Amino acid sequence: MTSAVETTLPGSAGAGTSNVDELARIVVRCMACEERFSGADVLTSCPACGGLLDVVIPTRRKLTPGELGVGVPAAGRHSGVWRYWPLLPGLPEDALVSRWEGNTPLFRDIRLTRYAGLADGHLELKHEGHNPTASFKDRGMTVGVSHAKAVGARIVACASTGNTSASLAAYAAAAGIPALVLVPEGKISAGKLAQTIAYGARVVQVEGDFDVALALLRELTAAYDVYLVNSVNPFRLEGQKTIIFEMMEQRDWQAPDWIVLPGGNLGNTSAFGKALIELHAVGLIDRLPRLAVIQAAGAAPFAAYHASGFEEFAPVEAETVATAIKIGNPASTTRARRSIELTNGWVTTVSDDEILEAKAIIDRCGIGCEPASAASLAGLRRLVRDGIVGVHESAVTLLTGHILKDTDAVAAYHFDNVGGGPRSGANRPIRVAAELSALEQALADALHR
Ligand SMILES: *Cc1c(COP(=O)(O)O)cnc(C)c1O
Ligand SMILES: [Zn+2]
Repeated sequence: MTSAVETTLPGSAGAGTSNVDELARIVVRCMACEERFSGADVLTSCPACGGLLDVVIPTRRKLTPGELGVGVPAAGRHSGVWRYWPLLPGLPEDALVSRWEGNTPLFRDIRLTRYAGLADGHLELKHEGHNPTASFKDRGMTVGVSHAKAVGARIVACASTGNTSASLAAYAAAAGIPALVLVPEGKISAGKLAQTIAYGARVVQVEGDFDVALALLRELTAAYDVYLVNSVNPFRLEGQKTIIFEMMEQRDWQAPDWIVLPGGNLGNTSAFGKALIELHAVGLIDRLPRLAVIQAAGAAPFAAYHASGFEEFAPVEAETVATAIKIGNPASTTRARRSIELTNGWVTTVSDDEILEAKAIIDRCGIGCEPASAASLAGLRRLVRDGIVGVHESAVTLLTGHILKDTDAVAAYHFDNVGGGPRSGANRPIRVAAELSALEQALADALHR
């Protein structure tokens, strides 16, 4: 593995001189004390006060949509992340690690609009499951791993509920940098674990939940020279901003009234607020949409924090079927709070049953997603019912991961009938004898589904 690093980075660890110059032009600032640092430093919290860090993007000059594509390096030309070059940290071109991430579809389906309770034509779904490793995590990872490569990291690491690990494993493999991944033992889906193993990361199953794994990893990265790519990494969030850039571009820069997304560790919530502020500052959108963050009821510390008027925050022990948002102590809480305050946003919760029902309906429309993603539609439906979102307001919901990320959840819904009685729309395969008459019966059933 060491030799792979040396092929990519001649000599030893450490950025080359030209990289240092380019990296030093990037400014990273503490959210809390405003102390400034260089992009050549590897930091995931403020050395002065422990606060969360932002990459500072200059936004004083107005930009037209055409100018957004100016200066995109060849290595990022096909990427749905790097093609927004003027609003991203200017990493050295030879460090860019891209797998043509982003470029994801914005779907409409009248059945889902009506399920949400909105007027026809008022709902769109941005499907981030259409990324190289099938979740939005790739958008952050291309920037995080490119920064890691630029600074000459010898090893990259994350704690993960599954999708971050799959994504990191793929991008680390692309960069030729070894990866270490901590996952909560027995609590990530088989598909996500399979990806991570196949892409070649060293997988460590920790006896404990995600929050325990992340705390442990932060101890390790504080003591050793290990590059951390969890969403406390400010460069990762820069990539996740492009979900918003691309969605607005797909809407001809017309902001919707609401953007609705699931909230786990709250990296996306943080990135979305920053993206919106920057787009507004450079004049690409003329008003800010409101962010609505949806948490699973069993993993909702941020919703409780919001309900207290952001007065009292208390971590919880998380429990939900939506494993990607099963997080009890979100690392980006203060940054996410800023996003909600700046966009006059909202936070609410949905039950696991609401999540699974919304997922079944998204799946049944031929779109499909993993359980955590469906929290967004379930949450929007609830917000419309509660009168927070108006029937004639427009919304974009975020689908964060692909249906094949969690096939156990599909099987549990359609085959197991847990909790008494079949689920609405449960679709069990049937067995028939190898006879035409039996098949004729199946044909009649299929016609009436
Ligand atoms: C990571 C992830 C989330 C949670 O996103 P945060 O940025 O941590 O709030 C939701 N859904 C899926 C599929 C994810 O992979
Ligand atoms: Zn600070």
